[in-house]
Amino acid sequence: MSCKKGLLIVISGPSGVGKTTLGKKLLTQFPEMKYSISVTTRNPRKTEVNGHDYVFVRMEKFKENIEKGYFVEWAKVGDNLYGTSKTFIGDAINSGSDVLLDIDVQGASQLRKLYQEKGVFIFINPPSIHTLRNRLNLRKTDSEQEIDARIMLAKKEIKESNSYNYVVVNKDLSKTLEDLSCIINFEKRKR
Ligand code: 5GP
Repeated sequence: MSCKKGLLIVISGPSGVGKTTLGKKLLTQFPEMKYSISVTTRNPRKTEVNGHDYVFVRMEKFKENIEKGYFVEWAKVGDNLYGTSKTFIGDAINSGSDVLLDIDVQGASQLRKLYQEKGVFIFINPPSIHTLRNRLNLRKTDSEQEIDARIMLAKKEIKESNSYNYVVVNKDLSKTLEDLSCIINFEKRKR
């Protein structure tokens, strides 16, 4: 165990806002930082690798994990369940590692109660709902119906953004990345 506790960097924002891309770039900029690989019941997308992007499991397995207390937080997002490993987060923080999490507003709210001091909560906003819809269309991973559902959810999530420590608008990827790096460096120095 280290006497220096790690920082929990929680990133939330609507689907299609660019969290995955930003997260990958942050991990390159902060090579010591660990990424919390979530467990989900969702089917993998074409480019996703099991154990790297997510751990993909069946609903029964997920429910079994809930019963066993495996998750520090979990939530239903759309039709799927997503959860974060309690052991992974606990071990990383206690060993002094910073951890990046890409989780939804429900999960962030659960972690805020547990890790208020050790966490920094960042919400990524799209420049507009119109831009978000365009990005989801360009991604070509969802049907029109699914995109409508994601937009509806996005509007709800954006309303929760005021419970976050920082709100960053992702208009220009490199500028957003710069903002996120500044926030993380500032928060690391603060502790
Ligand atoms: P997607 O299916 O687009 O990868 O993710 C859908 C939503 O689930 C995103 O908002 C993402 O941040 C969220 N999510 C991913 N992993 C977790 C998790 O472990 N817990 C919670 N609460 N949300 C998650």
